[in-house]
Amino acid sequence: MNNKELSNLLFPNIIKTEEDYEQIYPKRNLPENAKVTRLGPSPTGFIHLGNLYGAFVDERLAHQSGGIFYLRIEDTDDKRYVEGAVDTIIDSLAFFGINFDEGVTKTGDDGDYGDYTQSHREEIYKCFAKKLISEGKAYPCFLTEEEISEIRSSQEQQKLTPGIYGEWSKYRNCDVSLIEEKLNKNVPYVIRLKSDGKPNAVGKDIKRNSVKDAIRGNLDVPENFQDIVILKATGIPTYHFAHTIDDHLMRTTHVVRGEEWLPSLPIHVELFEKLGWEAPIYCHTAQLMKIGEDGNKRKLSKRMDPELSLDYYMSEGYHPEAVREYLLTILNSNYEEWRAANPSASIEEFNFTAEKMSTSGALFDLNKLNDVSKDTLLNIPACSLYDYLENWSKIIAPEYKTFFEDRNYLEQILDIGREDKKPRKDLIYSKQIMNFISYFFDDYFRVEDEMPVEVPKEDTRIILDEYLKSYDHSDDQSQWFDKIRNIATENGYAAKPKDFKKHPDEYKGHVGHVSTVIRIALTGRSQSPDIWTVQQILGKEKVENRIKNY
Ligand code: GLU
Repeated sequence: MNNKELSNLLFPNIIKTEEDYEQIYPKRNLPENAKVTRLGPSPTGFIHLGNLYGAFVDERLAHQSGGIFYLRIEDTDDKRYVEGAVDTIIDSLAFFGINFDEGVTKTGDDGDYGDYTQSHREEIYKCFAKKLISEGKAYPCFLTEEEISEIRSSQEQQKLTPGIYGEWSKYRNCDVSLIEEKLNKNVPYVIRLKSDGKPNAVGKDIKRNSVKDAIRGNLDVPENFQDIVILKATGIPTYHFAHTIDDHLMRTTHVVRGEEWLPSLPIHVELFEKLGWEAPIYCHTAQLMKIGEDGNKRKLSKRMDPELSLDYYMSEGYHPEAVREYLLTILNSNYEEWRAANPSASIEEFNFTAEKMSTSGALFDLNKLNDVSKDTLLNIPACSLYDYLENWSKIIAPEYKTFFEDRNYLEQILDIGREDKKPRKDLIYSKQIMNFISYFFDDYFRVEDEMPVEVPKEDTRIILDEYLKSYDHSDDQSQWFDKIRNIATENGYAAKPKDFKKHPDEYKGHVGHVSTVIRIALTGRSQSPDIWTVQQILGKEKVENRIKNY
């Protein structure tokens, strides 16, 4: 039996050939240099910042070049499959403004290069496994688990690289009659690549390939010598094999993926070579890192860092614009400079390049995200912010429903101090905003802070009484402040903080302490935006009630 006969024996039902698939999935008709990228998440139910980070790179590379960005679901590892995960992937990415041109959607496939779900492509993978077998580049391997672990222990003893390769692979060059015998007995088997690499070569004998990586430049990659599994005993392909075939047939030009895939690159180089295809350009992105508790950089971890999950940003209510903006600052080293020069330009105008990406760990910092978020929200008009917050509250925090009963009221609150020359940057993310503005709503109003120590208890009462008596809602800001100053001086408080500082023995405190008393009675807090403005929004009735109630 020759290789061709063996391939027919193994895959009698695979009729289509490589040529058929080349015809079904022709080269894409796109402008020159247009990039075709894809996101290939596994439907594990956990969608993380790394996915979004990679998706941004994919999206920018494709859309900046007039290319295509598609979604492929990589579900060959059925143990990791979680129901509903695909919808979660699509929804979460859409939330952050990542939309696909092609691929899996919530209502089925969209595009001419599908099926876009790996588990539906078994026939295609088998066709190419069959082809490799017929060309003597792959073979069925009947090694049992026990045999494999015995091989591993002898390799360990001899200090050799573990794995199935060269002389360790009993079925690599065995007699075809042995294979026939096993097949007749229905012994389970996997299909392995018959690697051409030189096992355990040392020094100059290790063959190396130069592989272009758009982020890292040319990579010097040692050749693979492992006879890796391409089809598992179930007939399901491994990631290595599936992505090679998919990226070729879906005409992917750039593969953006995490640097954890770098060690597998030798395998992928050999697979493309054996299949006779040009490999796409790889873009291995840096790991997302953070400064750990001990002050050292470490990888973001699923267990320790809630901020690794995209759910975190949605449930805290970070505005997607802010997250996008922040991700770009860590994605491209020249982004911040560009943003400073183009404060109101849209992100799409920035020329994103893979070359400007970090190769040694991208540092993720929540404080920095918060800073970026403050600036981003400043540019979002109150009416849009209102819609965003209302939507967030509906999904995540219905307890704030009452905040959305009066649009005009909430919009005024959100706008406090935003038009000032040096605008206030109070707003960061939904949860924080709800808390920051909660005192505007009677149900949420609480006295959180203590009155200033400079003001004795009986003075608090006097100050608030006098304030209430003199209160006129139509006073302008300076009339209003004159009244506070009067209350201060009449009760033994300096009219100016600096007077109090100079002569601390002559006063109980200063006008600032008096206004803090009013601020706490009105807002429950010792820190708040300008009291006069807050009162104008609260309205006469609420102001008077709060002073009375205190
Ligand atoms: N399915 C792989 C993962 O879950 C994707 C790797 C790739 O994009 O090639 O990480």
